[in-house]
Amino acid sequence: MDVLHDEDVDDSILKDKTVAVIGYGAQGDAQANCLKDSGVNVIIGETEILGGRPNPSWTKAKADGFEVMPVAEAAEKGDIVHILLPDEVQPEVYESQIAPQMKAGKALCFSHGFNICFKRIVPPEDVDVIMAAPKAPGTEERRAYLDGFGVPGLVAVKQNPSGKAREVVLALSKAMHWTKAGILECTFEQETYEDLFGEQCVLCGGLVELMKNGFEVLVEAGYPPEMAYFECVHEMKLIVDLVWEGGIKRMAEVISNTAEYGMWSVGNEIIGPEVKVKMQKALKRVESGEFAAQWVEEYKKGRPFLKASREEIGKHEIETVGEEIRQLFKKQ
Ligand code: NDP
Ligand code: MG
Repeated sequence: MDVLHDEDVDDSILKDKTVAVIGYGAQGDAQANCLKDSGVNVIIGETEILGGRPNPSWTKAKADGFEVMPVAEAAEKGDIVHILLPDEVQPEVYESQIAPQMKAGKALCFSHGFNICFKRIVPPEDVDVIMAAPKAPGTEERRAYLDGFGVPGLVAVKQNPSGKAREVVLALSKAMHWTKAGILECTFEQETYEDLFGEQCVLCGGLVELMKNGFEVLVEAGYPPEMAYFECVHEMKLIVDLVWEGGIKRMAEVISNTAEYGMWSVGNEIIGPEVKVKMQKALKRVESGEFAAQWVEEYKKGRPFLKASREEIGKHEIETVGEEIRQLFKKQ
């Protein structure tokens, strides 16, 4: 795959365009501020009153110096309408407030392919449909930008009636400094499937279950939870940082020979072929749309499983002990 950098992209196409960022949460905040600091004309579309209460995102966007307006008004004014609402909320807001404003020649942009890929949003054919997806949480993205660098990103084009869709999405990525790290071009399907697979099996789901099981085994065997927390959670970051810096080889060089011997001789006994088979099943569930259908169903029921899971982990010792330990060992 080709990795594109600053010198491969011309962002002058954004000069006379307005980007309407819809939603000012984790990604909306980070991306809007990076675009603004790069001289792009950005407006924010939000909902002033959400669930009967003033929406903190509206207030924050105003305090950060943006022109903030209702979603429909921003979608009308924007040449590029960049939807950064939670994925599950996007279809209803799109239908009621954005779709009527999507006139020919405009571009609709996303940071995750979910709603296009699973056809929960079907834009008109005369509108460009693009994706600029950062491979980082918003906080990290903004920090990297302020440090004079950027995070890597994925870009994709789904519809290109203007003939300029690719130029526009590359320009957005450059303005957010992702081309400083490097961007890859892919399809909406590739981004959506690999993103869902990664967060379920490795990054969020896999990681949390690995740490939780390790913690429980030590505690149930009578080891102090504080020690178990250090071993199975705190040190995770230090190990992952080493892999991030220089691969598995670098990590193996830094840990002791004893740790390295244990890593090769025991690790694959813990996470072996049966886990790979389960991961393959999870990937199939993602690709077939089964997972998306389950998530949409859960959202429509008011997210009972999500709420119960949050409550349950909040009570788990890995979280209660973790909270105390992070306080105790914080830099004073
Ligand atoms: P958040 O949940 O952080 O933010 C969404 C924003 O939308 C918030 O400002 C929220 O307001 C607002 N909002 C929620 N419901 C409504 C509504 N009904 N009407 C109007 N505004 C509403 O979302 P993310 O930034 O996490 O996700 C945005 C997109 O970016 C998604 O497509 C996601 O997949 C993608 N993405 C996210 C990443 C991440 O790290 N979070 C990484 C890469 C891509 P309030 O908070 O006040 O409720
Ligand atoms: Mg992701």
